[in-house]
Amino acid sequence: MPELPEVEVTCRGIAPQLVGRTISSIAVRESRLRWPVPAAVRSLAGRVVLGLRRRGKYLLFDCGDGHLIMHLGMSGSLRMVAAGTPPGKHDHFDLGFDGKLLRLRDPRRFGAVLWTAQPPQAHPLIRHLGIEPLSRDLDGRRLHALTRGHRTAIKQFLMDGRRIVGLGNIYASESLFLAAIHPGTRASRLSRERCARLAVAIKRTLRAAISAGGSSLRDFVRSDGELGCFQARTCVYGRAGQPCRRCGAKIRRIVQGQRATFYCPNCQH
Ligand SMILES: [Zn+2]
Repeated sequence: MPELPEVEVTCRGIAPQLVGRTISSIAVRESRLRWPVPAAVRSLAGRVVLGLRRRGKYLLFDCGDGHLIMHLGMSGSLRMVAAGTPPGKHDHFDLGFDGKLLRLRDPRRFGAVLWTAQPPQAHPLIRHLGIEPLSRDLDGRRLHALTRGHRTAIKQFLMDGRRIVGLGNIYASESLFLAAIHPGTRASRLSRERCARLAVAIKRTLRAAISAGGSSLRDFVRSDGELGCFQARTCVYGRAGQPCRRCGAKIRRIVQGQRATFYCPNCQH
């Protein structure tokens, strides 16, 4: 599943190729994505893309009088291809720009292509999103405040997008390892100092993944059309039974909220 780093990498990859350009054509080959592609999307030709930014795992294309909202779902990817490139079976949507197409491929069709004429932060899918982990909004003090009163395990807290956006299973596990915090620790019990450490660990983990070009999805295709790299070298995620890279103890796997969590019983408390 594309995670925040993949979406960020996609955003950075495609933005220079379409911001400031006029949309010349639209192709909706399959409108049954997670939600039906609204009719308004089909009449976007002629608008200029004034800006592109990421909020959580949503891409927001500023078209002046509204925003095109895209989400990659479980298996979506975006790439720029030359105009006239024949679409594959799962290439459901194209946004055309003079000689180029931004093409959405989404085999499982859990992605989304939506339109809003309202400020995007007011959209029902975006309104309740938590804070951006890479922004200044996330620091030790804020994390400490956010976790007060939450008796859930910190791993599950981190994965709740209403608190902090974009921390999927891999990055939540890796951040907790880096911060030396046991994933089962109650969020409300984390001290200020540990929250500060965790905030730094989250940013470092995400930044490392972004510079590695994203991770976690075999069929993620980088916006320039090359296959992405990418299972970044994880410390704990997916490594049950293997030696901890820091201390050599065996990495353990537990299940929290139906999701696998990996941790080092020796390094994380
Ligand atoms: Zn260890």
